[in-house]
Formats: sequence, structure tokens, C-alpha cells
Amino acid sequence: MSHNSQNIVEAMAGAKLSADPALQAFRNEVRQFCRANLPQDIRRKVILNQHLDKQDYVRWQKILAAKGWMAGHWPEQYGGCNWSRVQRWVFEWEIYRAGAPWLMPFGVTYVCPVIYTFGSEAQRKKYLTPTLNTDIWWAQGYSEPDAGSDLAKVKTRAVRAGDHYIVNGQKTWTTMAHWADMMFALVRTSTENKPQQGISFLLIDLHSPGITVRPIETIDGGHHVNEVFLENVQVPVENLVGDEGAGWTYAKFLLGNERLLAADVGKAIRLFSQLQGLLEVTHKRGKPLLADAVWQSRLADLEVRILSLQALGFELMAQAESGSEPGPEASVLKIVGTELMQDIAAHSIELLAHHGLAFQAEALAPGWDGELTGPSFAPGAISEYLHGRASTIYGGSSEIQRNILAKAVLEL
Ligand SMILES: Cc1cc2nc3c(=O)[nH]c(=O)nc-3n(C[C@H](O)[C@H](O)[C@H](O)COP(=O)(O)OP(=O)(O)OC[C@H]3O[C@@H](n4cnc5c(N)ncnc54)[C@H](O)[C@@H]3O)c2cc1C
Repeated sequence: MSHNSQNIVEAMAGAKLSADPALQAFRNEVRQFCRANLPQDIRRKVILNQHLDKQDYVRWQKILAAKGWMAGHWPEQYGGCNWSRVQRWVFEWEIYRAGAPWLMPFGVTYVCPVIYTFGSEAQRKKYLTPTLNTDIWWAQGYSEPDAGSDLAKVKTRAVRAGDHYIVNGQKTWTTMAHWADMMFALVRTSTENKPQQGISFLLIDLHSPGITVRPIETIDGGHHVNEVFLENVQVPVENLVGDEGAGWTYAKFLLGNERLLAADVGKAIRLFSQLQGLLEVTHKRGKPLLADAVWQSRLADLEVRILSLQALGFELMAQAESGSEPGPEASVLKIVGTELMQDIAAHSIELLAHHGLAFQAEALAPGWDGELTGPSFAPGAISEYLHGRASTIYGGSSEIQRNILAKAVLEL
């Protein structure tokens, strides 16, 4: 970010935070912690958008766990710090801004709050602490080939046989399932009544016999997502969360948390700053494009959107703290956040055209020492652009979010 832009964003954040000195002190603490503890090799991979391996994530998450910050938003009794939503928002914003890897949400943010809110004491004992320490890696088994936006159509069948369920079906788009130990899944335990009433929430050990995980290669050439096939998989009944047939309620509780995460201001600021770096090194008629009036106006537009996202995020988190859970507003946050990120990435691509726009995907492998045809962050920027297309699809597509808003706001 240019000096001025950086200052404006900082000033806005400062103005919000100065009303709460404790929050401001917390932000400074997170910032210092990242400076001192985020391993430089991991940070470099993140900044260049290179492929991280499982150990990179585990190493960083264990550093956070040792500090007690892996799940600061959990209640203290389960190993968290009782952070408010605003605190959690500030924490994520600072770590991503610092160049930390994506904090895997599947365990600490998605399934564990479901487990400590609706699960049994035995499930809490078995899963919470190992997830905090990233000794268990979770995957989210919601989507199926014919059940994405319309999740109530899940067909993966779980039939009770004594003290087990026998599970058959297929999940798809399952992020990081190739690294995961456990998958929380929506399964159909009944075909009677409304489709939503026959869904249950099951914790499935991915090392069980009958499970096949197959990679799906995405448009950026990476391996992030998978198909998961389940053939006569035996799942102990004790792995059912809450009541049989009540899975829809837990699924919606989880999706609310998923949507709030999508507006990633820290990452938007980092990508914006990279865009500015690219404008500095890209020249037209002997002058850096950063000085170009059209580009200045585009930057101003992006900057205003970052500020609005930040303000909206603060507002929503503060509202949630005062007792009202974010409703349709979470959809606004998801649309605004993901579309902003896509636009920043699209601007980088337009600029890279000046450098020939060669996508050297091989340069994303750490240690690659071939010759680059463009700026050092070109392969990462292109990969970000390509993979970023998915953000307006997962966690509820933008069309679905707009439907939610239309229904809620226009009362259709
Ligand atoms: C990179 C990536 C990672 C993912 N990770 C996971 C994961 O870990 N676990 C998991 O369970 N799922 C995951 N998903 C799946 C994701 O949640 C679904 O892709 C998403 O919910 C959309 O479902 P679908 O792909 O079946 O598309 P569809 O539901 O078939 O939608 C196709 C198109 O139609 C539009 N559409 C559908 N219904 C409506 C409607 N009523 N009104 C207007 N437009 C509509 C959609 O917006 C979309 O543009 C991931 C997806 C991606 C791309």
C-alpha cells in the first residue's frame, strides 16, 4: 500500500480501535507476536503465494496453540480465551496482514463450536484439545455432486446397524481431505418427512476402511480439493453429534460462522499492497504506472472498498457481541469481501499483461530456481486470481447470498 493509503487504512482502524484501548493493545500484541514468531520461510511462501505443505500449516498453528491463540474465540473452559467477535476479527486481520498462512477453519472454527455446543461430553474430551493442537486435521463433508447450493438434497446414506452406522455415498469439493484425519459430514438417516428433517451430523474417521479420497485439480493447477467416496464405511453411533435427524440445525449454525470468515480484510490489504508494488515496477512511456491518473483512480476505488469492508466488519462483530447474531448482514460481508478480493487480483492480472502474463506455475514450488520471465510475485498473483474465482462459490455462492438478502431485506 502506498504510504498515504496505508496511513488512511491505519488511521481508520486506529479511530475505531482508539475507542477501546484494550482492543488497541491487543492488536499491537498480535502484531508484535507475528513479527517475533511467524517463521520467515513460511511467511515468504505465503507472500509469494507458493504451495504450502501440511507441515507449514501445522508448524504455525502449533506456535499459535502454544501461545493459547489457536482458538481464542472458544470459551475458556474448552481451551480458548473467551475472545469477543471483534477481538477475533482484529486477530485474523493482523495475522493475515503479517503474511501468516490461512488458519485452517475446519476444526477450530467450524466443527468444534458445533461439538462443544451440541455434542456429547465424550466428543468434547476426544476432539477439542487435539484439534487445538492440530493433531487432528478436519475436512468438511457437506457438498455432493447434486447437493451444493441446495444442501438439503444430500444423499449420502447412513443406516443404523447395531452400534454403528453404515455409510454409503459421495462427497465432493472436500478441501484438504487428502491431509485430513476426520471429516464432519451431513448424511441422510431418513427419507421420510421434509428433506431437512432426515439429515444427521456425523464425525467420520477418514482412515476407516471403505473410504477413497481422489484429487480434483483446480484451474490454478493446485491440489486443494477432492472427491471422497464412502463405501460401506462403519461409523460408531457415538460419532453422531446431537440428535439423529437434527443435523440441519447444526449445519446452519456452522454455515453462519463460515460466512463471517470470508471477508478477509487483512488479506485484502496485503494483496492491495502487492498491487501497488507491481504498479511501481511497471512502466509505461518511462513512468511507473503508480503515477498514472487512471490507476490512481482505480486504487482509490479499491481503497474505499477496503475501508467500507473494514467498517462493516467492525460493525457486525460489535452487533453480534451485543447479543444479536449476524443475520443477512453476514451475506453482505461475504459478497463484499470476496468480490473485492477478486477485483484486486483482476487488477494485478491486467498489470501483468505488461510483463507478458506468463503463468510459470512451476515457480510456485518452494525451492524452484528457474528463470522468471516477469516480476517475482507474478506466478503467485496469477494463481491467486485463478483460485480466487472459487471464493464467490464456496461458503454459499454470491447468487445464494443475494437470494438471502432479497428475501430478508425486500421481504419477498
Ligand atoms: C475451491 C472450493 C472449495 C470447496 N470446499 C468445500 C469443502 O471443503 N466442503 C464442502 O462441503 N464443500 C466445499 N465446496 C463446495 C461449495 O460449497 C459448493 O461448490 C457451493 O455450495 C455451490 O454448490 P455447487 O458447486 O453444487 O453449485 P450449484 O449449487 O449447482 O450452483 C451452480 C450455479 O447456480 C447458481 N445457483 C444455484 N442455486 C441457485 C438459486 N437458487 N438461485 C440463483 N442461483 C443459483 C449458483 O450460484 C452457481 O452459480 C468447495 C467449493 C470450491 C469451489
